[in-house]
Amino acid sequence: MTKFTDLGLNASVLRAVQEGGYEDLTPIQEQAIPLVLADKDLIGVAQTGTGKTAAFSLPLIQKLLTGEGKRNAKCTRALILAPTRELAVQIAENIQAYAKYLHLRVALVYGGASAKPQIKALAPGVDILIATPGRLLDLNNQRCIDLGKVEYLILDEADRMLDMGFIRDIQKIVAQLPKERQTLLFSATMPGTVEKLANSLLRNPQRIEVAPAATTAEKVDQHVLLVPKARKRELLAHVLKDDSLSRVLIFTRTKHGANRVARQLDQLGISSGAIHGNKSQNARQKALNAFRSGETRALVATDVAARGIDVDGVTHVINFEIPNEPESYVHRIGRTARAGAVGASLSFCDHDERGYLRDIEKIIRQQVPVLEDHPFHLEGIARAPEGSVEESGNGGGRRGASNGRNNAGGQRQGRPGGQAKSQRSGPSGNGPRRNRSSNRRQGAAA
Ligand code: AMP
Repeated sequence: MTKFTDLGLNASVLRAVQEGGYEDLTPIQEQAIPLVLADKDLIGVAQTGTGKTAAFSLPLIQKLLTGEGKRNAKCTRALILAPTRELAVQIAENIQAYAKYLHLRVALVYGGASAKPQIKALAPGVDILIATPGRLLDLNNQRCIDLGKVEYLILDEADRMLDMGFIRDIQKIVAQLPKERQTLLFSATMPGTVEKLANSLLRNPQRIEVAPAATTAEKVDQHVLLVPKARKRELLAHVLKDDSLSRVLIFTRTKHGANRVARQLDQLGISSGAIHGNKSQNARQKALNAFRSGETRALVATDVAARGIDVDGVTHVINFEIPNEPESYVHRIGRTARAGAVGASLSFCDHDERGYLRDIEKIIRQQVPVLEDHPFHLEGIARAPEGSVEESGNGGGRRGASNGRNNAGGQRQGRPGGQAKSQRSGPSGNGPRRNRSSNRRQGAAA
């Protein structure tokens, strides 16, 4: 296996990487870094959590250090586009960490925050600019950034950028870049639209692919809890009684749903925050920081807001609502099984969500075991033929009757979270991401 020391990276970068606790390269890094160093354009099919940020950042930093280009006022040498502010912040944090012993100038621009400091940061010119497309175009229209000297373009989460309607913005941005450049595109999935974008932007790209959906999903101890819609709130309160659910990411489909769940957690006295599109950038960042530091036990999020978010030591992902796009399920549960760690997911499925569950099981190529041992179990909901489902809670009455979906041939599960407790060995199970782990709090009580 390749080691970081085998890559010929600058000694200061290596030192920072080693201080971050990384020892071995992840598969995407093993494949991508040599190709980027060899000046290739690259399509990387990889999800967040695979180590892809370092896969492009480390060789990028190396090339900026050894290349002939230099900084010019209002220009950037490398441009990294990301769909969300959170992802942009995260990439910037990673790059700052890898470049902490170097004199590279790194700037970050995103919407929802004052443009003034961003403009100021760009004025003398930067080596690496991380940007969300909308704000970058605004600043470009105001002539605060000149994109004519970009040597490296990186698109991160390309599929999500297209989902979020950024295609026009991306095209406008790319139209201003020099044709002579190196381009890297990363995407969790490769639908035709991303393929088309890649064809228009990259030259003879090398393609690498890691961790297809099923692989990520396999690392997570997944369960579905069948519950009438009206009782999901009670079920949430019930499962959160278990202290082993110490750092919990809760997903809803809508912003309103996220607000409702956050209010409920407040009422239950469970420290939590929420991130979704209606929250100000400040509020989102604050909620994320509080969750990262362990100050809050739960973070409620919508798919778009949570995409790409990297938080260490998430013990459980709760799908309060099943996502209608099956890929979102994989992204959601991937928040708890980061870079080799294990994690657990609990999906609350009501009668109307059975179809979504079926779609999910198709793409992850496995059945999600049903956890029956809770007071709101709705027997037969997932496998029953259409029309035969009783839409009422059983108050715990019919537990134990097989619906053909019990884990391990009908063996009963423990309390929600209980089985996850035995599988997780605490923060050390998360491998080498030790740089942010000092303030990690396990077993935080409500
Ligand atoms: P990413 O896919 O870039 O979001 O990275 C996911 C997490 O893996 C981040 O917390 C990184 O700090 C961590 N990470 C990246 N590369 C490595 C590595 N080689 N060894 C261990 N952890 C890593």
